[in-house]
Amino acid sequence: MRMDNWVLVGQSKLEKHEQERFTVGATQVKVRVTHVMLTNYDALCYTGDRKVNYPVTIGRVAVGVVTELGDHCFGLEVGSRVYLNAVRPCGGCYACKSGNRADCTSPLVAVKDFDGFLRDFVVCEYTDVTLLPDVVDDMHALCIEWVALAENIFDRLNLSMGSRVAIIGGSFFGSIFAQVALYHKFVPIVIDNYQQNIDRMKRSGVFFAFAADENLLDNINKATSGSLCDAAVYTSDCKLPAAVPARVLARNKDLVLGGVSPVNFSLDSSPLFEKNLRIYSVSDGFGYTETAVNMIMHGAIDLTNFEKDVLKEFDLGQLLTERAANISRNSKMTVLKLIL
Ligand SMILES: [Zn+2]
Repeated sequence: MRMDNWVLVGQSKLEKHEQERFTVGATQVKVRVTHVMLTNYDALCYTGDRKVNYPVTIGRVAVGVVTELGDHCFGLEVGSRVYLNAVRPCGGCYACKSGNRADCTSPLVAVKDFDGFLRDFVVCEYTDVTLLPDVVDDMHALCIEWVALAENIFDRLNLSMGSRVAIIGGSFFGSIFAQVALYHKFVPIVIDNYQQNIDRMKRSGVFFAFAADENLLDNINKATSGSLCDAAVYTSDCKLPAAVPARVLARNKDLVLGGVSPVNFSLDSSPLFEKNLRIYSVSDGFGYTETAVNMIMHGAIDLTNFEKDVLKEFDLGQLLTERAANISRNSKMTVLKLIL
C-alpha cells in the first residue's frame, strides 16, 4: 500500500513522496490523517512569501484517527478522533525541560518548524494531539486553531462584557473571531471592503459591519455612541490600510495584529502616538487548544454561513496558487479528504 506525503521542495514546488514506515515509541501515537484544511498560511508557505526550510510537508490544520499507540499514552485508544496540534512545545527550553511544556518559550509551528500534516500518517507524541469529543465534527474541529488564536487574543485584551472590538478584515479568521467575540458577549465591529464578507457577517449575527470608506468614522461613532472602540484586531492578511485601526480606537487602547499568516505591511507611527496605543501581535493559539474544543462543544462557532469545498481529488498547486492570489478575501473552507 502506497502512503503519500505532499512535500514542498522549493518555492511553488510540491512533490508527492512516498512516506516511509514508522516505529511508534512508548509515548507516541500514529494518526491516520483524514481531513486537512487549506489555509492562507499554507498558501504563503507554498509561494515562498512565508520562509520555510525545504523540504517540508505542507498542511497546518488537520484531523485524523489514531491507528496505533505506545504503552504510555493516556486518554487515547485505537480509533480515537484527534486534532493534530498545529503548534507544539519545543522540548528543549528551560520550561519544557522542567516539565512545564505549557509554558514553552519557543513553541514550534507546523510547516515552519516541523513537517505539516498533508500526508497519510503522522507519528508524534501523544501530547501533541487533542482528543475530539463526538459532538465536534470534522469541519468544526478544523477551526480549532482559529478559535484558539481568538482566545489567546481575548485573554491578552482582558476586556469587560460589552466592550466594542473592531475587527479589521472579515475573511475566515475575522469571521471566526467575530463569532468568538459574540460568544463572550463583546460587541464585534467588523471592517472590510468586500461586500460578500460584510453580508456574511450580518447573516452570522454581527450587527455592525462597515466598509473602510469615507463614512467609516461616522459609522464607528454611531456604533459606539461616540466613544470609539475599546480594542482593535487587525487581521494579518486583510490588506486594508494599516491606518484604519488607529482611526477607530479610543485613546490608551490595544491594537492587536492577529492571524496565523503573517504578511509584511507597515504602520504609520504618528496616529499610534497620538492615541497612546499599545501594539502587539498574536500569531497562534498555543495553550488554548483544549479551551477551543470546549467552546466549540458549547456552540461558540456556527459554520452554516461559510462556503465549503470538501475535495477527494485535487490539484494542490492550483488550489494554493488561487488561495495566495485571494489572500485577503478567502473565506471558503477548502478541505482535502484523504483516502487511503
Ligand atoms: Zn519549550
